[in-house]
Amino acid sequence: MTQQRNRNIQGINTEFLGLRNVPANYKVLFVQGGGTGQFAAVPLNLMSRTGKADLHGSWSSKAAKEASKYGAVNLVFPKLEKYTTIPEKSTWKLDPEAAYVYYCANETVEGVEFQYVPEVPQGVPLVCDMSSNFFSRPVDVSKFGVIYGGAQKNIGCSGVTVVVVREDLLGCPLPVCPAVLDYGIMAKNKSLYNTPPTFAIHVVGEVLAWVKREGGLEEMQRRSIEKSKMLYGVIDESAGFYNNPVDVAARSRMNVVFRVGEGGKDDLEANFISQAAAQGLLSLKGHRSVGGIRASIYNAITSDDVRRLCEFMRTFLKANKL
Ligand code: PLP
Repeated sequence: MTQQRNRNIQGINTEFLGLRNVPANYKVLFVQGGGTGQFAAVPLNLMSRTGKADLHGSWSSKAAKEASKYGAVNLVFPKLEKYTTIPEKSTWKLDPEAAYVYYCANETVEGVEFQYVPEVPQGVPLVCDMSSNFFSRPVDVSKFGVIYGGAQKNIGCSGVTVVVVREDLLGCPLPVCPAVLDYGIMAKNKSLYNTPPTFAIHVVGEVLAWVKREGGLEEMQRRSIEKSKMLYGVIDESAGFYNNPVDVAARSRMNVVFRVGEGGKDDLEANFISQAAAQGLLSLKGHRSVGGIRASIYNAITSDDVRRLCEFMRTFLKANKL
């Protein structure tokens, strides 16, 4: 049984390495605890080097709170009132002595996505939470010290988190780091230090094989651009009936958020959600902290699904615009 599990993990690992073009000096770990577990694992594994971390973002602010339990956190830019933009690079305060720089590539709640990999001071490892845009585009792994993502958005079901870590960052955790969060221990044991989430890992293997058959990450990227363009197109042509508050350059390809009715009207949004649901267009309610509508168009959502939503949005606009 253990041998079988081991073979399965190694097979999926190989699939993963091939798809992501992961350089040989990186380890791929399959761990538990979700993205939230990594909010703690990252500082616990990396902070011993200088005890400081640079962070920014909304999910990042949760990560920052967790990291501050283990060392000093420097916010790269002051906490924003609303996360609808990525501040100009010239305003960032990056510390060349930091143990790492941390960011979240796609802020799932507000629909804000980095369309580039941030530059950081030489020698400072870059750490990225890709939980909600993992496998939606090709990524140059060699620019990162650590990349992690929960499987449940683009590569499987909840229960497993994939961590890609550069080998030189293994082996100097803080003394309080629990064994299950210790990248070095997990790497040494090929992700089998404790009982792995076998079913969730199996599903990741199936999804990766599907991504490969469909044309790989380039094709996932092409589809994401096509799907998000369709939705932003309907929003932008609606003359304010639908509005997306995010700076155009930072708009997410994964989570398209918008308000319905000028300024956002709760009753119209409730109608929008119930009428959409009646047509089988489900889970469109925005995150409770921001309200409105959120269309999460992960890899499993097809262009035809998005086309149907766009048609519904046009019909709803005609019926409700004053
Ligand atoms: N990071 C991002 C970008 C997320 O979207 C989420 C959850 O939606 C998390 C972290 C937290 O992940 P988990 O619920 O797996 O702990």
